[in-house]
Amino acid sequence: MVHGDDAGLKLPPRVAPAQTVVIPITFEDTKEDILSKAGKLAEELDAAGLRVKLDDRDEYTPGWKFNEWELRGVPLRLELGPQDVEKGVVTAVRRDTREKAQIRRSEIAAWANATLDKIQGDMLAAAAALLAENTKTVDNCDDFYLLLEGRPGFVRAPWCGGTSCEDHIAAETGATIRFLPLEAEDASDHSCAGCAGKAKMWAYFAKAY
Ligand SMILES: [Zn+2]
Repeated sequence: MVHGDDAGLKLPPRVAPAQTVVIPITFEDTKEDILSKAGKLAEELDAAGLRVKLDDRDEYTPGWKFNEWELRGVPLRLELGPQDVEKGVVTAVRRDTREKAQIRRSEIAAWANATLDKIQGDMLAAAAALLAENTKTVDNCDDFYLLLEGRPGFVRAPWCGGTSCEDHIAAETGATIRFLPLEAEDASDHSCAGCAGKAKMWAYFAKAY
């Protein structure tokens, strides 16, 4: 499933190419010091097993970088500027909730690892809740075809597993199978909602609008 909001993508940490991005907040007088500290921070996170990106490009402002990495869906942003260094912290922002926190510099690797796990769990729960909210279950042909005349969101229905049946459903309703649960949900005690033959598994159908 694709996650996102007005600011762009939201990638679950497990599949995100970069799980966290380190953005140095530089000013002319402290630039070299901050860049070096941000580099060390990124190395430390990398050593702790995270997929890290250090955005030390000189030609873009921090604000521009924040927007870009949000758009790309990187789950966790870490900012390091002179004020953070002075306080001995790193400023962290979660992509999924936009929650901002200041984390002690010495604890950042452990915190980032734990927080990425938490983001993964929270996003999965949110996706499951959204799916449940937008899914209607039917177990017979009449209800299935009637429901698909409207705009039902996802329709969970018993299916025989046949390609020609799937093609028939698509031709009649415009709906296709969007996904099958990784562990097939047995529907062998039902008839297929598409062709009334013997069903094998529950499938999720939806129309493209
Ligand atoms: Zn069928």
